[in-house]
Amino acid sequence: MSTSLKGQAAIVTGSTSGIGHALASALAANGARVILNGLGDPTTIEATRAEMSAQHGVEVLYHPADMTKPAEIADMVALAQRSFGRLDILVNNAGIQFVSPIEDFPIEKWDQIIAINLTSAFHATRAAIPMMKAQKRGRIVNLASAHGLVASPFKSAYVAAKHGILGLTKTAALELATFGVTVNAICPGYVKTPLVEAQIADQAKARGISEEEVMRNVILAAQPTKAFVTFEQLNGLLLYLVSDAGASVNGASLPVDGGWTAQ
Ligand code: NAD
Repeated sequence: MSTSLKGQAAIVTGSTSGIGHALASALAANGARVILNGLGDPTTIEATRAEMSAQHGVEVLYHPADMTKPAEIADMVALAQRSFGRLDILVNNAGIQFVSPIEDFPIEKWDQIIAINLTSAFHATRAAIPMMKAQKRGRIVNLASAHGLVASPFKSAYVAAKHGILGLTKTAALELATFGVTVNAICPGYVKTPLVEAQIADQAKARGISEEEVMRNVILAAQPTKAFVTFEQLNGLLLYLVSDAGASVNGASLPVDGGWTAQ
């Protein structure tokens, strides 16, 4: 799918890796100026930024905001105003995972997951709203998960945060509906990224089974297609949501999960 985003400006949080990187590339490929964000080695991040900019012929910036720090998140949004004079698209994507039974779940891990996977989207949305309202157009897309709709054992903080982000999505959608701003959530099933690769090892430990068994009987067991969701499939939905054609899709939680949550 392609849609012209020429002249528009976007922020994608957690875009130094995985899904966020793919989504940011798709926006840049369609003409949007993009602010990347995320953790990682500064030299690698700079190479990613420069490559995306050169490949698509658009301005690509990087902001190092830590998604646990509200002031840094606000400054990242302010960078769009400072550099581009506008913000059309905000993709709240940064996220982490930790797998453990609740009784052993480290309290600081719970707090960190809620901060990065849920509260950071509140801070970014809060900071973006005045610009989007003034423009009378905006698109906020939250990367939730199939785990925003259903649970799995040992992922209490992640499942709670992802259910929470659907509540934030619906509330913001109602508040912004008359301002030309839509707010939606994409709920992917399993996508093969570093986040999932790390889980394979963690799940094997928590369940006392081999990594191969986790892939076969845990990860793809939930997904009726028995196939990982691809970056291209997520890019396609994002491009639709940010296009003019997506203007009436608002407050929706859209599964891209091969049928997982149909069960
Ligand atoms: P990933 O680990 O490949 O990427 C996560 C990104 O978030 C990285 O850029 C990382 O640097 C960034 N990040 C982490 N902590 C941060 C912090 N404190 N401040 C700033 N950035 C931070 O993961 P992914 O699989 O691409 O996941 C992206 C999003 O998609 C997450 O919200 C995840 O929950 C969601 N998701 C992933 C899957 C999947 O199967 N991979 C499925 C459903 C939903």
